[in-house]
Amino acid sequence: MQNRILDLCQEKGLKMTGQRRVIAQVLGESDDHPDVELVHKRASELDSRISIATVYRTVRLFEEQNILDRHDFGDGRARYEEVSEDHHDHLIDIESGEVIEFNNEEIEDLQQRVAKKLGYRLMDHRLELYGTRIKK
Ligand SMILES: [Zn+2]
Repeated sequence: MQNRILDLCQEKGLKMTGQRRVIAQVLGESDDHPDVELVHKRASELDSRISIATVYRTVRLFEEQNILDRHDFGDGRARYEEVSEDHHDHLIDIESGEVIEFNNEEIEDLQQRVAKKLGYRLMDHRLELYGTRIKK
């Protein structure tokens, strides 16, 4: 099965062992910002010999190679997602832990203006909103 993470690994000339390939496949199919433990759980279902240490090493390698983005959503666990071409920010439901992606033009513009006012050209930013769902 082909996915973008596997494509990126190939582009960057990474040596792909069977286990590394399984981990890449799992990451490519996850869109919920999993942490290492969850990646390990999913990878184990495909190959029970994969250790959590291998997942750690592989995820770190992918991060170094700019294949994965690492996030810290305030619970001290590193979460990963595929590096995306389209910028997005995150809203974290602090009750369920669910991560919602969004993009807001007004926020993007505002950040540009703030940076400019301070004499900077904005190159990147990270924005995380933390909230609880409003019950009706
Ligand atoms: Zn995301």
